Amino acid sequence: MATEGDCAICYSKILLPLTLDCDHTFCFTCIKGVYLTSMDDEDNEDGPCCPMCREPIDDELFDHPTVKGQLDMRDPEEKEEEKEKEEEGDEEKKDVSNTSIASDAGDKMDDLHADLAALSVSNTVVKQEGKKKKNDSSSYWLYQGGGGGWWRFDPRCEKDLEKGREEGKDSIKMLICGNMYCMNLDKMVQQRLQECDYDDTGYHLTGQNRSIRRVESKEELETLRVRGIAGVAISQ
Ligand SMILES: [Zn+2]
Ligand SMILES: [Zn+2]
Repeated sequence: MATEGDCAICYSKILLPLTLDCDHTFCFTCIKGVYLTSMDDEDNEDGPCCPMCREPIDDELFDHPTVKGQLDMRDPEEKEEEKEKEEEGDEEKKDVSNTSIASDAGDKMDDLHADLAALSVSNTVVKQEGKKKKNDSSSYWLYQGGGGGWWRFDPRCEKDLEKGREEGKDSIKMLICGNMYCMNLDKMVQQRLQECDYDDTGYHLTGQNRSIRRVESKEELETLRVRGIAGVAISQ
């Protein structure tokens, strides 16, 4: 069930929120998925529109979006848990103020509001129940960018990747921006499922894949040219 503050597409807490002209807000990757999917749909004559109110989505929103802030973004669900734990009144602290996702279009800046709470300095995972579960906060998952450098997966994708790795899986499937991807954890590459070869034995990678990598620490992360998170570039 979606509650106030949840994304109407994924029913989870909104990650990297993006507000459309109509004032409806979704996770950046969720609404980008809707956008890309309807761009690919030849039967959709009206073009991409808001899933809530059908108002057309401005193309410029996805032109090189950037966000000022930290690469070190945590999953809002975890943020919630911590908040409950800290729950001692007082306004929730916001680590980055007035962060906004901006497109290259410049004049579009006001249309996009990144949620400050989604971007935060610490990535520490502290589970409430029991004594602090394994602190796996220091691993990051990245994918190779088209123009060089690396992009960080969003924290939910990272969780799935980390889980797949812990379970010793060779590969997992993941939905990213409306496209199904095959993440090969053995060869450490990713490829769109529809571009994979398929036979009785399953999906097979072709030459179309890109590297992914797991980074063990923040220090290691800082040695790499990481351009942003899930397609949202970070400007310092
Ligand atoms: Zn969402
Ligand atoms: Zn709308």
